[in-house]
Amino acid sequence: MGEPHPPPAAHRPPDRPPALRARALARSFGRGSAALAALGPLDLDLAPGEFVCLVGPSGCGKSTLLRIAAGLLRPGEGELEIRTHAGRPTSMIFQDYGIYDWKTVLANVRFGLDIQRVPRKEADERARTWLARMGLADFAGAYPATLSGGMRQRVALARALAVEPGLLLMDEPFAALDAQLRTLLQDELLGLTQTTRTTTLFVTHSLEEALVLGDRVLVMSARPGRIIAERRPPFGRPRTGAVRDTPACTA
Ligand code: ADP
Ligand code: MG
Repeated sequence: MGEPHPPPAAHRPPDRPPALRARALARSFGRGSAALAALGPLDLDLAPGEFVCLVGPSGCGKSTLLRIAAGLLRPGEGELEIRTHAGRPTSMIFQDYGIYDWKTVLANVRFGLDIQRVPRKEADERARTWLARMGLADFAGAYPATLSGGMRQRVALARALAVEPGLLLMDEPFAALDAQLRTLLQDELLGLTQTTRTTTLFVTHSLEEALVLGDRVLVMSARPGRIIAERRPPFGRPRTGAVRDTPACTA
């Protein structure tokens, strides 16, 4: 009693700067009268460790946003800042897995580590550790074409996570999987991102999937996509996400 109340959350300075911060970010394709506005302008902040889902109709610019955040595509207008803890890298996972068919499973997972110049022996160990974690220990020497869709997506997950990304970008990663496998991989992904506290931006066209996975769900309008709604879904499973810190939320 008599203690001053803390100021409302919105007025408190954030504990840490966002892992991703976009302001008036927009992108179009083509020039002049033929230009097609594909995205934005939109503002977006991802808190460190937060799992944010982005939902929107086909063609609204979700992949464009992820490709910009991954550095695969130049932003057209606006600002984009990515500030990960200790400069950890950004990983992206694509709907079609994006793994290399001509490399073994082990070589696929080691690929990102090689780019980061992790010494060969350590890269090998880390890659094998992640394969084991994804239940793929026995498939290190296999070629992806011999694996099921679910296993291929696990290879992609192992490759993305082995580099210990500060930001994980996922573009409809489970859309091609059957419902049972999707649920399994959703669970695995939640567990992994919570343990590693990886900031994640997960794109899906399924509101149901977004509500299951997200600490926060952002809804985009049709092209050019802008963020038109934001929800913090009720949750049915334990979470350790950055924004779920009230006692009722961590039960
Ligand atoms: P989503 O992932 O939400 O389905 P995209 O980001 O792939 O949407 O595409 C947004 C819009 O931009 C679409 O109209 C698409 O056709 C267009 N677009 C995407 N990439 C290119 C490109 N490289 N050149 C021209 N238009 C593109
Ligand atoms: Mg897309």
